[in-house]
Amino acid sequence: MERINERLVNWASILDAGTREQAETASRLPFVHPHIALMPDAHLGRGATVGSVIPTERAIVPAAVGVDIGCGMAAVRTQFTRDRFAGDLAPLRRAIERAIPLNAGQQNRTVVATAEPRVEELTERAERAGFDPARDKKDWALQLGSLGSGNHFIEVTVDERDRVWLFLHSGSRGVGNKIAQRHMKVAQDAMTRWWIELPHRDLAYLVEGTREFWAYIRELRWAQHFALLNREEMMDRVVRQTAEFVGEPVIEQERINCHHNYTEQETHFGKQVWVSRKGAINAEPGRPGLIPGSMGTASYVVTGRGDAMSLNSSPHGAGRAYSRTKARRTFTIEQLREAMAGIEYRDTDAFLDEIPAAYKDVDVVMADAADLVEVRHTLRQIVNVKG
Ligand code: 5GP
Ligand code: MN
Ligand code: MN
Repeated sequence: MERINERLVNWASILDAGTREQAETASRLPFVHPHIALMPDAHLGRGATVGSVIPTERAIVPAAVGVDIGCGMAAVRTQFTRDRFAGDLAPLRRAIERAIPLNAGQQNRTVVATAEPRVEELTERAERAGFDPARDKKDWALQLGSLGSGNHFIEVTVDERDRVWLFLHSGSRGVGNKIAQRHMKVAQDAMTRWWIELPHRDLAYLVEGTREFWAYIRELRWAQHFALLNREEMMDRVVRQTAEFVGEPVIEQERINCHHNYTEQETHFGKQVWVSRKGAINAEPGRPGLIPGSMGTASYVVTGRGDAMSLNSSPHGAGRAYSRTKARRTFTIEQLREAMAGIEYRDTDAFLDEIPAAYKDVDVVMADAADLVEVRHTLRQIVNVKG
């Protein structure tokens, strides 16, 4: 742990100058209390750093959550061990790909039966909050149960005792993105209206007590819930496909679902603050969490240690070391194949920018996080489905 300034504390041993500067810029916002915690996986983000925890007092920065509101991880430990997954796993991968569309509209023409009660719940929540998500995304209901693109993924993995876990990463899809963008714009317009000069335009904020602030909070909470239910819906479908593949119902031993892009009100160092975790998870004492590595490397099931200085937080992944463009220029499809040896995945150069080498060394990240979380399980992929 390194104190960079009065309002910035860092856990990343791998940290490029640009990211450090971006976090320093955010730490100058006067309403940060007590400090921003920079996680081991920190890397450049829009406005605010990915892998940072930004606690704010009586104000909120929409960019401190980011555009994928509620993005996070879900995992299920099944009763199966690896031997039930011997032989060709391509049929299982394809069954998962068929059950969970990447986008609404493509394969998803109607809300599927399992998603219906969840859509109803979200509709009621939106009504209570007094807003209509269809304003941002007409077919938002069709997005529930869809994976999205980029580095959203679904995996079948095995732990150190050969037990099989289902593991996935996704967020609030297009509807959450639209909500986030709209409020970022509202915040920027407010800055212009009040002649407020910012160190960076994307650090525009909303002040507690204003109508705009509470509108953001209400819709943010809705989008966070959408993301949570989206993961539940997808996980239910993955569980069903897995049961069908093995020929035996899945008996869930444990299910975890956690956000890594979100805001929650918490008390730290004597004050109630809005804690925005952008690429960070809640690691309060005993809290289960999930830290993915990358395609081809290990991922972790962890328990929070409740480190006060980190504001009870931990990293949310390995974190990017190369931009997508730079990764595409640097690595080859052969290197990706080598990294994915023995894993059932779709062999395409579309994932070249997702090669493990484009991310920080997850072992270094986990060593940096040793005071923040305890590792309960180490997961290794046997099937990888990417968005
Ligand atoms: P983010 O939420 O910032 O978009 O990414 C979360 C993290 O997921 C990344 O930092 C990376 O460590 C991890 N990740 C990206 N792709 C994969 C994948 O295919 N499998 C696993 N297990 N982890 C991944
Ligand atoms: Mn996401
Ligand atoms: Mn994410």
